[in-house]
Amino acid sequence: MSQYIDGRRREALTGVHDVVRDPSTGEVVADLTLAGPDDVEAAVAAARAAFPGWSGATPGERSAALHALAGLLEAEAEDLAQTESRQAGKPIRLAREFDVPGTIDNTAFFAGAARTLEGQATAEYSADHTSSIRREPVGVVGSIAPWNYPLQMAAWKVLPAVAAGNTIVLKPSELTPLTTLRFAELATQAGIPDGVFNVLTGTGTDCGAHLLRHPQVDMVSFTGSTRVGRTVLEAAATTAKRVHLELGGKAPFVVFDDADLDAAIQGAVAASLINTGQDCTAATRAIVHRSLHDAFVEGVADLFASVRLGPTQDPATDLGPLISTAHRDRVAALVDRSRAYARVVAGGTVPGGDLARGSYYAPTLIAHAGLTTEVVRDEIFGPVLVVLPFDTDDEAIALANDTPYGLAASAWTRDVYRALRATREIRAGCVWVNDHIPIISEMPHGGMKESGFGKDMSTYSFEDYTVVKHVMFDITGVAAKPWHRTVFTGRG
Ligand code: NAD
Repeated sequence: MSQYIDGRRREALTGVHDVVRDPSTGEVVADLTLAGPDDVEAAVAAARAAFPGWSGATPGERSAALHALAGLLEAEAEDLAQTESRQAGKPIRLAREFDVPGTIDNTAFFAGAARTLEGQATAEYSADHTSSIRREPVGVVGSIAPWNYPLQMAAWKVLPAVAAGNTIVLKPSELTPLTTLRFAELATQAGIPDGVFNVLTGTGTDCGAHLLRHPQVDMVSFTGSTRVGRTVLEAAATTAKRVHLELGGKAPFVVFDDADLDAAIQGAVAASLINTGQDCTAATRAIVHRSLHDAFVEGVADLFASVRLGPTQDPATDLGPLISTAHRDRVAALVDRSRAYARVVAGGTVPGGDLARGSYYAPTLIAHAGLTTEVVRDEIFGPVLVVLPFDTDDEAIALANDTPYGLAASAWTRDVYRALRATREIRAGCVWVNDHIPIISEMPHGGMKESGFGKDMSTYSFEDYTVVKHVMFDITGVAAKPWHRTVFTGRG
């Protein structure tokens, strides 16, 4: 069953079928029906009907259900990791050690955070009144998620929304809906009422676009490409919905001349290859002081050669395939075009043998590319790292900021003042110092510039998923207030 609406699985009303494939083998993992406009109607109606009850639940009740959900996820961790690995082509080690534990921790975090929601002030700001703040859920959230971390992206959308008392209709990517469907089932088992968390599996155009424009959806929360993010903004404008956008990235990885070179090389390999480079915060532009440039290129190329591509079910595998052959071919074509203007130092090849059944691509390092070239400017979303030299700190910061994106960045240095300058001047939602990639549930994730706006994780996400209401009480008990005389002089 392909859809999860009002607390139960059902097939899409369209009757249109599609399959989910394992990108590492091309084998079919599941056959699903794809949601269309009528399914969107049913899911939004269920979310709308569930809203009064869920928004009226106490924080303690919402917290208890989320705690129970964290326990159920924990109990099913291995199954979830297996499914995540198969549908998204992730090495099982990554699914076990990153995707699933991250989701469980996030769920436990929001179980606690659900009880922290409060208004900022209760006070008298005028002689005749007292004011207070009510922090209320926005209503029905329509959410759309990408395929790169299916379970975590679902968690990042659902948990703050539901913890704050909203109800949600979530559309995962049509390529990777399986763990999101299971997440919703477990939420019901955990005591989250029917209709609070609904899942529609369908395409962006036939399902997502209807969700974004639905008049009964109060807010849209989207994670995906900047290209589609722009259409989300336009669609939301038709009914003036609140919008939360987590979009693309092109993260700089700045290595100053006093950096620990070995640490920077190891870090660059891990941060550029995580999830086969299909990570919005992945290191994609290594901006390296000219004195270290050649040693850095050599060190990264050596480590890239030692990375084990292999079956995703093998715990020894480091690097899995890209999400599809279409995406792999797009990455390969871009790298091939770069040979005309840059040097492909490592990789740039499609592996053969057993791996040819999947959409694998070798870790690829590119040097000597001009600053205006597509490998330097465009989000590639594959295992491709580009190295750019710099001479002065000013130039390094300018290069880091020379991108329309602003999601994540890192600075590698042993000089605290250089590090502080980088964290101040690089325009990105997160700047790491001497590391790149770690995230934690307590801290926000989100971008600047064309990487979008709004925060996932942390209690900062409640700024997006709640509305603030001012309540003002007369405290005099007197019918005629002094200010009324400004408008009319009153009786007698
Ligand atoms: P995508 O934009 O192609 O698709 C994302 C989602 O939008 C999918 O569910 C898709 O079905 C849906 N969609 C596509 N067209 C639509 C339309 N016209 N109307 C409504 N919905 C539509 O992105 P993707 O290829 O799934 O994911 C990769 C992108 O996601 C990268 O750009 C990456 O940087 C970004 N991403 C960002 C973050 C972040 O936190 N900033 C996290 C993960 C991924």
